[in-house]
Amino acid sequence: FYSDEMNHQFSTRLSVERELRNALIEGQLLVHYQPQVDLCTGEILGVEALVRWAHPERGLVHPDDFLPVAQETGLIVQLDQFVQQRAFEEVACWHKEGLGQLLLSVNLSTTQLEQEAFVRNFLKAISVAGLDPAAIKVEITENVLMRDVEIVVPKLNALRDKGIQVAIDDFGTGYSSLSYLQQFPINTLKIDRTFVHDIRAEQGDASIINAIVAMARGLNMTLIAEGVENRTQLNYLKEQGCRQVQGYYFSEPVTAKALKQMLSDNPFQQLATSS
Ligand code: C2E
Ligand code: MG
Ligand code: MG
Repeated sequence: FYSDEMNHQFSTRLSVERELRNALIEGQLLVHYQPQVDLCTGEILGVEALVRWAHPERGLVHPDDFLPVAQETGLIVQLDQFVQQRAFEEVACWHKEGLGQLLLSVNLSTTQLEQEAFVRNFLKAISVAGLDPAAIKVEITENVLMRDVEIVVPKLNALRDKGIQVAIDDFGTGYSSLSYLQQFPINTLKIDRTFVHDIRAEQGDASIINAIVAMARGLNMTLIAEGVENRTQLNYLKEQGCRQVQGYYFSEPVTAKALKQMLSDNPFQQLATSS
């Protein structure tokens, strides 16, 4: 039963695909950066690269609106390569300009990871940009990790052998079994923003966040909380012993130019220390 609505969805999907192909050719994709901040000192320790689409009619389009189509069509591979190449170049520049040895996090998709030549191409892009592999962290979700353990884990091991760090993104929302976690080459757990969002001022000690903090400590992993928007959340995370945060409280994802300015101004010191 072919309804009008299905017809509509189909044509939208097709037009997104067509426009996205064009966007890759025309250079309409941009990389924004969101700082990852030491919540005690306000120091910018790293940035996450996040793709944006400067659409000629619709303005700045966010990934949730086009990544599903990019995944379905395989365009995600080209998209990720573009984002990574651009981010490697920009961060290499900031390093050379003496703006701090910041760490760059990039998101990996299943499709990219499954590419036969992924490790080789990824390492090559880092070296062409003149970046130290130790300055890179890759973010993958639990579901990507668990979907294809035999394929994904050897590739992550190969990256880690070169000094690249591995983070689990949106941690706590997926299906990873805890016994697996310590066998995987993971350095960082990134607490999903839904848990941070649920923090209340009157909250006691029993929360998923506490459990994740304890687990990260036990497994000797770095911890970062995403989606931190207010002081209540920041204070709670600090009390629990989480040191790194990413979220609107400090900054939204911003352009390369704005991020560079932040690196030279160091604007978060006061935000972090005032209580
Ligand atoms: P993610 O990797 O978990 O990235 C964090 C998302 O949370 C970003 O959304 C960011 O803008 C948003 N965020 C940051 N701080 C806050 C906050 O304080 N409050 C709230 N409500 N949100 C916050 P964004 O940029 O829309 O990206 C969505 C997702 O799309 C990302 O989730 C990531 O999974 C994916 N993505 C983004 N860029 C890329 C890319 O270049 N390649 C791939 N494969 N995936 C990407
Ligand atoms: Mg991410
Ligand atoms: Mg996330």
